Amino acid sequence: MNERPAFQADFLNQSGINRQHVFSLDALPMDVLATLGTTDGYRQLILLGHGGRQLWERVKASNIGGDHPIDDYCRQTVSRWFSNDLPDRRYRLLYPGERPVGLQQLGTLAGWHHPSPFMVGIDGEWGSWFAYRAALLADTDFAPFLPVDRSSPCESCQEKPCIAACPAKALEGGNFSLQKCIGYRRSTGSKCQFTCLARVDCPVGEEHRYDDAQLRHSYGRSLDDLKKYR
Ligand code: SF4
Ligand code: SF4
Repeated sequence: MNERPAFQADFLNQSGINRQHVFSLDALPMDVLATLGTTDGYRQLILLGHGGRQLWERVKASNIGGDHPIDDYCRQTVSRWFSNDLPDRRYRLLYPGERPVGLQQLGTLAGWHHPSPFMVGIDGEWGSWFAYRAALLADTDFAPFLPVDRSSPCESCQEKPCIAACPAKALEGGNFSLQKCIGYRRSTGSKCQFTCLARVDCPVGEEHRYDDAQLRHSYGRSLDDLKKYR
């Protein structure tokens, strides 16, 4: 019997893309497959993410410029990973890209994502300080990963300090109001132009919390988008 090759994570980990999950395409739900376009010639979907601050440090050290430095850095890193470690394998990047890939659904299948009151995924190790960085089809034959087994930290969180921390009261009753959140973020003098105070107040994974520059980058971009589509 042919042994499956081991997943080579060192280069990705050193690059700050330190969360990885391999899915077999034939094990994905139909509604997920339907979002991927043609999968002919590919066997697996590889989901990549980052947890904590290391990726941002690597992006800054790379001196990559432009409006989308994290996405561009991740595209380059995936390309280098295949060139260095998987030169005989083909891949097609789904995300970042134009196609709406269900990243949270994939994150749920990988065991990374649990819903939080402020609508950012959370898990018991990283808190909410992780994000999806790439999803790609590949003709690899790694052993598919099992989902990580971590329950939702919100279920055992009695005080739920995130709810009281939201100045817009957008999380009242545990039901997120996108309208209140957006309205507040756009308002003059908003304290959430470059952060989410609810997210910052969650104690889970606080050692991985992004620094101010990364928060400013991420939330500044989302605020710009909100203003564009006003
Ligand atoms: S403060 Fe508690 S309820 Fe809020 S996101 Fe963190 S763990 Fe979940
Ligand atoms: S960004 Fe601000 S207004 Fe929106 S949920 Fe977070 S704390 Fe509330």
